[in-house]
Amino acid sequence: TAFTSPPLDPVLLENIGYARYNTPTPVQKYSIPIVAAGRDLMACAQTGSGKTAGFLFPILSASFSNGPRAPPIPIGVNGNAYLRTRKAYPTALILAPTRELVNQIHDEARKFAYRSWVRPAVVYGGADINGQLRMIERGCDLLSATPGRLVDLIERGRISLANVRYLVLDEADRMLDMGFEPQIRRIVQEEDMPGVHDRQTLMFSATFPRDIQMLAKDFLKDYIFLSV
Ligand code: AMP
Repeated sequence: TAFTSPPLDPVLLENIGYARYNTPTPVQKYSIPIVAAGRDLMACAQTGSGKTAGFLFPILSASFSNGPRAPPIPIGVNGNAYLRTRKAYPTALILAPTRELVNQIHDEARKFAYRSWVRPAVVYGGADINGQLRMIERGCDLLSATPGRLVDLIERGRISLANVRYLVLDEADRMLDMGFEPQIRRIVQEEDMPGVHDRQTLMFSATFPRDIQMLAKDFLKDYIFLSV
Protein backbone atom coordinates (compact mmCIF):
# COMPACT_ATOMS: atom_id res chain seq x y z
CA THR A 1 0.00 0.00 0.00
CA ALA A 2 1.11 3.55 -0.74
CA PHE A 3 0.63 6.76 1.27
CA THR A 4 -3.12 6.79 0.57
CA SER A 5 -4.80 6.98 3.95
CA PRO A 6 -5.26 9.43 5.48
CA PRO A 7 -5.26 11.62 2.35
CA LEU A 8 -2.10 13.75 2.24
CA ASP A 9 -1.75 17.10 0.47
CA PRO A 10 -1.28 16.56 -3.31
CA VAL A 11 1.95 18.63 -3.46
CA LEU A 12 3.39 16.55 -0.61
CA LEU A 13 2.35 13.33 -2.37
CA GLU A 14 4.23 14.45 -5.48
CA ASN A 15 7.33 15.16 -3.39
CA ILE A 16 7.00 11.73 -1.77
CA GLY A 17 6.86 10.26 -5.27
CA TYR A 18 10.03 12.13 -6.32
CA ALA A 19 11.80 10.72 -3.25
CA ARG A 20 10.64 7.21 -4.26
CA TYR A 21 9.10 6.47 -0.89
CA ASN A 22 6.62 3.97 -2.29
CA THR A 23 5.47 2.20 0.86
CA PRO A 24 5.15 3.53 4.44
CA THR A 25 7.44 1.92 7.00
CA PRO A 26 5.67 0.42 10.06
CA VAL A 27 6.17 3.54 12.20
CA GLN A 28 4.85 5.73 9.36
CA LYS A 29 1.85 3.45 8.85
CA TYR A 30 0.73 4.13 12.44
CA SER A 31 2.12 7.60 13.22
CA ILE A 32 0.78 9.43 10.15
CA PRO A 33 -2.93 8.75 10.88
CA ILE A 34 -2.45 9.45 14.61
CA VAL A 35 -0.77 12.81 14.00
CA ALA A 36 -3.18 13.71 11.18
CA ALA A 37 -6.05 13.10 13.61
CA GLY A 38 -4.58 15.78 15.88
CA ARG A 39 -3.50 13.45 18.69
CA ASP A 40 -0.38 13.73 20.82
CA LEU A 41 1.98 10.82 20.38
CA MET A 42 4.66 8.99 22.35
CA ALA A 43 6.44 6.66 19.92
CA CYS A 44 9.18 4.17 20.71
CA ALA A 45 11.10 3.82 17.46
CA GLN A 46 14.74 3.36 16.48
CA THR A 47 16.87 5.38 14.12
CA GLY A 48 16.41 3.95 10.62
CA SER A 49 12.73 3.17 11.22
CA GLY A 50 11.59 6.08 9.06
CA LYS A 51 10.36 8.06 12.09
CA THR A 52 11.46 11.37 10.54
CA ALA A 53 8.96 11.12 7.68
CA GLY A 54 6.55 9.67 10.25
CA PHE A 55 6.26 13.08 11.90
CA LEU A 56 7.17 15.34 8.95
CA PHE A 57 4.51 14.05 6.53
CA PRO A 58 1.42 14.77 8.65
CA ILE A 59 2.87 18.11 9.84
CA LEU A 60 3.74 19.23 6.31
CA SER A 61 0.47 17.97 4.86
CA ALA A 62 -1.64 19.96 7.31
CA SER A 63 0.65 22.99 7.00
CA PHE A 64 0.48 23.04 3.18
CA SER A 65 -3.31 22.92 3.29
CA ASN A 66 -3.74 25.43 6.14
CA GLY A 67 -1.35 28.05 4.75
CA PRO A 68 0.96 30.36 6.69
CA ARG A 69 0.07 32.01 9.98
CA ALA A 70 0.73 35.70 10.35
CA PRO A 71 3.22 36.56 13.08
CA PRO A 72 1.24 37.88 16.07
CA ILE A 73 3.11 41.21 16.35
CA PRO A 74 4.84 41.80 13.00
CA ILE A 75 5.26 45.58 13.17
CA GLY A 76 7.02 47.72 15.78
CA VAL A 77 5.88 50.85 17.59
CA ASN A 78 3.57 53.15 15.54
CA GLY A 79 3.49 50.59 12.75
CA ASN A 80 6.92 51.80 11.65
CA ALA A 81 8.42 49.26 9.28
CA TYR A 82 11.91 50.25 10.40
CA LEU A 83 11.08 48.97 13.84
CA ARG A 84 9.93 45.62 12.50
CA THR A 85 11.52 42.98 14.70
CA ARG A 86 13.69 40.50 12.86
CA LYS A 87 12.19 37.65 14.77
CA ALA A 88 11.36 34.20 13.45
CA TYR A 89 7.99 32.59 14.29
CA PRO A 90 8.25 28.87 13.46
CA THR A 91 4.94 26.96 13.35
CA ALA A 92 6.69 23.60 13.74
CA LEU A 93 9.59 23.09 16.16
CA ILE A 94 11.64 19.90 16.16
CA LEU A 95 14.20 19.35 18.92
CA ALA A 96 16.90 16.71 18.47
CA PRO A 97 20.17 15.97 20.30
CA THR A 98 22.94 16.43 17.73
CA ARG A 99 24.07 18.53 14.80
CA GLU A 100 24.04 15.41 12.57
CA LEU A 101 20.47 14.58 13.51
CA VAL A 102 19.02 18.10 13.11
CA ASN A 103 20.73 18.33 9.72
CA GLN A 104 19.22 14.99 8.63
CA ILE A 105 15.77 16.19 9.72
CA HIS A 106 16.31 19.51 7.93
CA ASP A 107 17.39 17.78 4.69
CA GLU A 108 14.30 15.59 4.80
CA ALA A 109 12.12 18.66 5.55
CA ARG A 110 13.59 20.54 2.56
CA LYS A 111 12.99 17.60 0.26
CA PHE A 112 9.33 17.31 1.22
CA ALA A 113 8.54 21.02 1.67
CA TYR A 114 9.60 21.59 -1.94
CA ARG A 115 7.14 23.79 -3.91
CA SER A 116 5.20 24.76 -0.78
CA TRP A 117 5.16 27.95 1.30
CA VAL A 118 6.90 26.13 4.18
CA ARG A 119 10.50 27.30 4.65
CA PRO A 120 12.56 24.88 6.75
CA ALA A 121 15.53 26.12 8.81
CA VAL A 122 18.10 24.46 11.06
CA VAL A 123 20.15 25.69 14.04
CA TYR A 124 22.68 23.81 16.18
CA GLY A 125 25.47 24.54 18.62
CA GLY A 126 29.19 24.46 17.97
CA ALA A 127 28.90 26.47 14.76
CA ASP A 128 28.95 30.18 13.90
CA ILE A 129 25.63 31.74 14.89
CA ASN A 130 25.66 34.49 12.24
CA GLY A 131 25.10 32.16 9.29
CA GLN A 132 22.23 30.57 11.20
CA LEU A 133 20.73 34.01 11.96
CA ARG A 134 20.81 34.84 8.25
CA MET A 135 19.14 31.53 7.44
CA ILE A 136 16.26 32.02 9.89
CA GLU A 137 15.76 35.57 8.61
CA ARG A 138 15.17 34.14 5.14
CA GLY A 139 12.35 32.01 6.51
CA CYS A 140 11.80 29.74 9.45
CA ASP A 141 8.45 27.95 9.36
CA LEU A 142 9.70 24.51 10.34
CA LEU A 143 12.72 24.73 12.62
CA SER A 144 15.00 21.80 13.48
CA ALA A 145 17.13 22.73 16.49
CA THR A 146 19.43 21.42 19.18
CA PRO A 147 18.16 22.62 22.57
CA GLY A 148 21.14 24.74 23.69
CA ARG A 149 21.39 26.79 20.50
CA LEU A 150 17.63 27.34 20.46
CA VAL A 151 17.74 28.73 24.03
CA ASP A 152 20.54 31.08 22.91
CA LEU A 153 18.45 32.36 19.96
CA ILE A 154 15.39 32.83 22.18
CA GLU A 155 17.51 34.81 24.67
CA ARG A 156 18.79 36.99 21.83
CA GLY A 157 15.17 37.73 20.92
CA ARG A 158 15.54 36.23 17.45
CA ILE A 159 13.06 33.39 17.75
CA SER A 160 9.56 33.49 19.23
CA LEU A 161 7.66 30.30 20.00
CA ALA A 162 4.27 32.08 19.95
CA ASN A 163 3.21 30.45 16.64
CA VAL A 164 4.28 26.88 17.45
CA ARG A 165 1.49 24.44 16.62
CA TYR A 166 3.64 21.31 16.39
CA LEU A 167 6.35 20.45 18.90
CA VAL A 168 8.45 17.33 18.24
CA LEU A 169 11.03 15.87 20.64
CA ASP A 170 13.10 13.47 18.57
CA GLU A 171 15.45 10.94 20.21
CA ALA A 172 14.26 12.18 23.59
CA ASP A 173 16.28 9.54 25.47
CA ARG A 174 19.52 10.70 23.85
CA MET A 175 18.67 14.34 24.62
CA LEU A 176 18.33 13.41 28.31
CA ASP A 177 21.54 11.32 28.21
CA MET A 178 23.33 14.39 26.85
CA GLY A 179 22.08 16.53 29.74
CA PHE A 180 19.59 18.65 27.76
CA GLU A 181 16.66 18.25 30.17
CA PRO A 182 16.99 21.79 31.67
CA GLN A 183 17.09 23.38 28.21
CA ILE A 184 14.16 21.28 26.98
CA ARG A 185 12.06 22.18 30.02
CA ARG A 186 12.99 25.82 29.62
CA ILE A 187 11.91 25.79 25.94
CA VAL A 188 8.60 24.04 26.62
CA GLN A 189 7.88 26.41 29.53
CA GLU A 190 8.85 29.58 27.59
CA GLU A 191 6.30 32.30 28.21
CA ASP A 192 5.17 32.53 24.59
CA MET A 193 5.13 28.76 23.90
CA PRO A 194 1.48 27.70 23.44
CA GLY A 195 0.29 25.48 26.28
CA VAL A 196 -0.20 21.73 25.92
CA HIS A 197 -3.82 22.20 24.78
CA ASP A 198 -2.91 24.79 22.13
CA ARG A 199 -0.20 22.75 20.40
CA GLN A 200 0.28 19.17 19.24
CA THR A 201 3.23 17.41 20.85
CA LEU A 202 5.04 14.32 19.55
CA MET A 203 7.83 12.47 21.34
CA PHE A 204 10.10 9.85 19.82
CA SER A 205 12.48 7.75 21.86
CA ALA A 206 14.25 4.42 21.37
CA THR A 207 13.59 3.50 25.00
CA PHE A 208 10.86 4.38 27.52
CA PRO A 209 12.54 4.61 30.94
CA ARG A 210 11.17 6.48 33.95
CA ASP A 211 12.62 9.92 33.02
CA ILE A 212 11.07 9.74 29.53
CA GLN A 213 7.74 8.70 31.07
CA MET A 214 7.95 11.82 33.27
CA LEU A 215 8.63 14.07 30.25
CA ALA A 216 5.72 12.49 28.39
CA LYS A 217 3.47 13.09 31.41
CA ASP A 218 4.56 16.75 31.61
CA PHE A 219 4.57 17.65 27.88
CA LEU A 220 1.84 15.52 26.27
CA LYS A 221 -1.93 15.42 26.72
CA ASP A 222 -4.04 12.27 26.47
CA TYR A 223 -1.40 10.74 24.23
CA ILE A 224 -1.33 7.61 22.12
CA PHE A 225 1.55 5.25 22.89
CA LEU A 226 3.09 3.59 19.87
CA SER A 227 5.81 0.95 19.97
CA VAL A 228 7.20 -0.46 16.72
P1 AMP B 1 14.85 7.72 9.69
O1 AMP B 1 14.59 6.56 10.60
O2 AMP B 1 13.73 8.70 9.69
O3 AMP B 1 16.18 8.35 9.94
O4 AMP B 1 14.90 7.15 8.17
C1 AMP B 1 15.86 6.19 7.77
C2 AMP B 1 16.06 6.19 6.26
O5 AMP B 1 14.96 5.59 5.58
C3 AMP B 1 16.26 7.57 5.66
O6 AMP B 1 17.35 7.54 4.79
C4 AMP B 1 14.97 7.81 4.87
O7 AMP B 1 15.23 8.61 3.74
C5 AMP B 1 14.52 6.42 4.49
N1 AMP B 1 13.05 6.25 4.42
C6 AMP B 1 12.16 6.67 5.36
N2 AMP B 1 10.91 6.32 5.03
C7 AMP B 1 10.99 5.66 3.84
C8 AMP B 1 10.01 5.04 2.98
N3 AMP B 1 8.71 5.03 3.28
N4 AMP B 1 10.45 4.47 1.84
C9 AMP B 1 11.76 4.48 1.54
N5 AMP B 1 12.74 5.03 2.30
C10 AMP B 1 12.36 5.61 3.45
